[in-house]
Amino acid sequence: MQRSALRHSSSIFAPVITGSVYFVVATLALLLSRFEGGLAFIWCANAFLMAELLTSRTRDWPRAIIACAIASAVATALFGMGPLAAIPMAAINIVESLIVAIICRRFVPDRRIIGAIRPLVVFIIALCGVANVIAGAMAATVASFLTPVPFGSSWLQWYSGHVLGGLTFAPILILFLQGECGRWLRDTPVRAKVEMVVLLTLFALVIVHIFFWARYPLLFASLLPLVLIAFRTGQMGAAASIIILAVIGGVATLQGVGPMTMLSGSTGMRVQYFQFYLALSFLMSMLVAAELNSRRRLFLMLQDSEARYRAIAEHSGDVVLNISVDGIIHYASPSAAEQIGCAPELLIGQSAANLVDPQDRALVIATHRRALTHPGVSHTVEFRSLVSDGDLQWCEMVSRAVVDERGIPSGVVSMIRDMSRHKARQQALQQVAARDSLTGADSRRAFLDKLEAEILRARQGARSCLLLIDIDHFKAVNDRYGHGAGDRVLSAFVERLRPGLRNIDSIGRLGGEEFAILLVDSDIDRASMICERLRARMVDPIPVGEAGGEAISVTFSAGLVKLDGESTRSAMLEAADKALYRAKHSGRNCLRLAA
Ligand code: GH3
Ligand code: MG
Ligand code: MG
Repeated sequence: MQRSALRHSSSIFAPVITGSVYFVVATLALLLSRFEGGLAFIWCANAFLMAELLTSRTRDWPRAIIACAIASAVATALFGMGPLAAIPMAAINIVESLIVAIICRRFVPDRRIIGAIRPLVVFIIALCGVANVIAGAMAATVASFLTPVPFGSSWLQWYSGHVLGGLTFAPILILFLQGECGRWLRDTPVRAKVEMVVLLTLFALVIVHIFFWARYPLLFASLLPLVLIAFRTGQMGAAASIIILAVIGGVATLQGVGPMTMLSGSTGMRVQYFQFYLALSFLMSMLVAAELNSRRRLFLMLQDSEARYRAIAEHSGDVVLNISVDGIIHYASPSAAEQIGCAPELLIGQSAANLVDPQDRALVIATHRRALTHPGVSHTVEFRSLVSDGDLQWCEMVSRAVVDERGIPSGVVSMIRDMSRHKARQQALQQVAARDSLTGADSRRAFLDKLEAEILRARQGARSCLLLIDIDHFKAVNDRYGHGAGDRVLSAFVERLRPGLRNIDSIGRLGGEEFAILLVDSDIDRASMICERLRARMVDPIPVGEAGGEAISVTFSAGLVKLDGESTRSAMLEAADKALYRAKHSGRNCLRLAA
């Protein structure tokens, strides 16, 4: 919020200027509009104080309030109801302005009273519904003590004079004190300035005609140009046209000419009627300007986000598709050419489902529908896409519904990312995790999965066996030859076992020097035979050093169990382990069958 250097500074001139302006405006109102000898009929001084409070920092409020209280007291003492009323009237003026300022600060945190409907409504409620109901009652009490004017008509005079003065002038003064006028002069193109000057000049002529020349009451004739100016020039033009209306109409009404004189009644009543007309004209054009302003801001935001979206869509490596509710592509980003192998313009009008491998089509369509039924949330799906050369390619698609102004989905924006490399890496990682790095046997996890699958097969009638083997006295190998040599033995041990197994069998390292072998489609006899064949493969010592260097002889004990198709995986392992334990206790280097 921009402020002039003087208002921003802590200069003592600031409160002096504030007080002086308040004094001049209050004095003019008292001199020109105390038609019944009590309260003034026109009161714009508080509009000035409200604008001052609403555009300054709270810590600057006390000096503005003191300056205006003094100005009000002096003006009332010299030109109003006299010295007795000076202090109470000053206090009431301050109460009114403070109530409005505090309510607006509380409910319009960004302090922009003008420019949007909600803050304007808050201001109107604060001024008309709270501040002047209270201040009017206080002022009418004072006036009924000091003047012959009855309480009821004093309250009405106060209420109408202050409400209408506040409504008409406070927002304009706020615009001015916020530096909007300076900003407008700086930022508006010359063409728009010329247009505004021309429109306001024409408007002034219309108003002069209505108030000075017309023989008929043509007050309504100002409405069309007011709305036109608000549409064409926004809040600055709306504010300027109200000032023109207030000055020309006010002068005419006070001089006793114009449509107001056609009313029978006192000057006070005519002035009140004029102020009412002025306030309604002001509200109408300000509300139109505020609504347009909101729409303009929305439009700018939309333009901004559209530009950002375009930049992302057109330079992203991902394919961006705009898909209609029924799955037809309406937009495809340039990266479609590279990623899908199809020019974006050829994709437009096609069904997006054609890009998806039939195996995954139902899943992708379900995700599209879910995005439409749950707008506001992103929905992700992985699928295989059909690229132009007939290859399959793993993709990830993130979809989000686009909703219209009623919140109803009008389509979906989908970002499609090539996941092939990611998938390949994921598969490689899975393979690494499935292998024991030292021996190349299956990892414990992978072997247990295979065992689980084989138990299921056994349930369907397959005859398979689980062989658990443990190297004998391996600790002694480590102790004698070192851990490195022990490692080489472990790895060579598995290499020696492999040729004794078929491709369909699996060998896994369950831990340390303990291995498990899944002998598929083998009964106990065959499995025992295989085990003995494996033992025979260990007869020659395993060389662990340079060629011709040291070689280590190892033996193993084994436990064998048939997969019965009923027992669980852990039950099968436990049974094989018990048999292995018995083999160890039978002097090692032998096989035992599970009981
Ligand atoms: P047993 O005949 O009763 O099986 O005797 P053992 O010495 O083989 O059995 P024990 O369980 O007492 O010792 C197993 C040894 O295997 C102990 C440990 O140092 C060794 N070991 C376990 N994992 C590895 C490994 O990855 N590398 C090497 N070098 N040694 C290992
Ligand atoms: Mg051992
Ligand atoms: Mg062991």
